[in-house]
Amino acid sequence: MRTLTIVAAFAILAVFLAVALSPPSRKAAPPPVAETPAATEVVEQLAGAAPVLRPSLPPDAIVPADCADPVALSAAAVDNAASVTGREWSPWGRPELGWEIYAPLVGQEISSTCPPSSQAFAAALARWQGAHRLDANGVMTAPTFEAMRVTWLRRRPFVAAMAKGCPPAPPETSLAAADKAEGYSGKAISLRPAALAAYRSMVAAARMEVPELAADHRLLTIFSGYRAPADDEARCDKDGGCGTLTRARCSAHRTGLAMDLYLGEAPGSRPESSEDGNRLFQSRSLAYRWLVANGMRFGFVSYPFEPWHWEWAGESVEGTR
Ligand SMILES: [Zn+2]
Repeated sequence: MRTLTIVAAFAILAVFLAVALSPPSRKAAPPPVAETPAATEVVEQLAGAAPVLRPSLPPDAIVPADCADPVALSAAAVDNAASVTGREWSPWGRPELGWEIYAPLVGQEISSTCPPSSQAFAAALARWQGAHRLDANGVMTAPTFEAMRVTWLRRRPFVAAMAKGCPPAPPETSLAAADKAEGYSGKAISLRPAALAAYRSMVAAARMEVPELAADHRLLTIFSGYRAPADDEARCDKDGGCGTLTRARCSAHRTGLAMDLYLGEAPGSRPESSEDGNRLFQSRSLAYRWLVANGMRFGFVSYPFEPWHWEWAGESVEGTR
């Protein structure tokens, strides 16, 4: 009991220090939007991140009774309810409608399982805003989303590595091959050994904790892992369109730490389609919501624009952490 008390005290102290020492997001230069981040970004270390066991709820799921509190934030809740599906904006430099695609990540970030249209969500958002030196009004404003977007991108070790330029790929002989069943449709996948081990732990937990994920073994299989820089270069030269939001010239996949996970696809879409309809479809999926709520337990961070793209943060891109 005494040990538990001491552990709890340290946990509270750690959370306090993390909040107190975190730099104000509004001072940070916004990173660019593609998988290729700015060379000036600095990453937050995730090795000691606390596990998150809480399940996530879709916006229209059964609403906990206390989501209607406090009444004082009703106006903010109404504003959020309108913007989550109706705001016309370009948070990634490309016009899109609303922010429901990112609602699971937002909920996780502010530690709220209530829907974006609720007062409790607004209250949790206000707390997050206050901790990040933003107007704590509980409204998902564009500056608030931008601060959150920057926070998310900074968690990616690849972003830190890019400070020194596009990182070299590890020797292919150092990579481990995934089992055939781990690749989407049996695709051959290779990753850094520790990243593959973390992936296996994560998927085993997902299938154990969520029967629906265990029932369809295509879910959470890997459709892209390590990609040789020369292959990506050749694809860029052949198809064009690289150096954009949807296709990086220096891809995180060269590190052997990034993986694209199958989350299903919208009807008529490919699993990796960055069309908004497909991203929204995936963001509503149980597989994605489980990843958002639990990925960090296993050291995985997301690239928020692409629900399927996850990076293992347990090892630095240089492999020296
Ligand atoms: Zn990817």
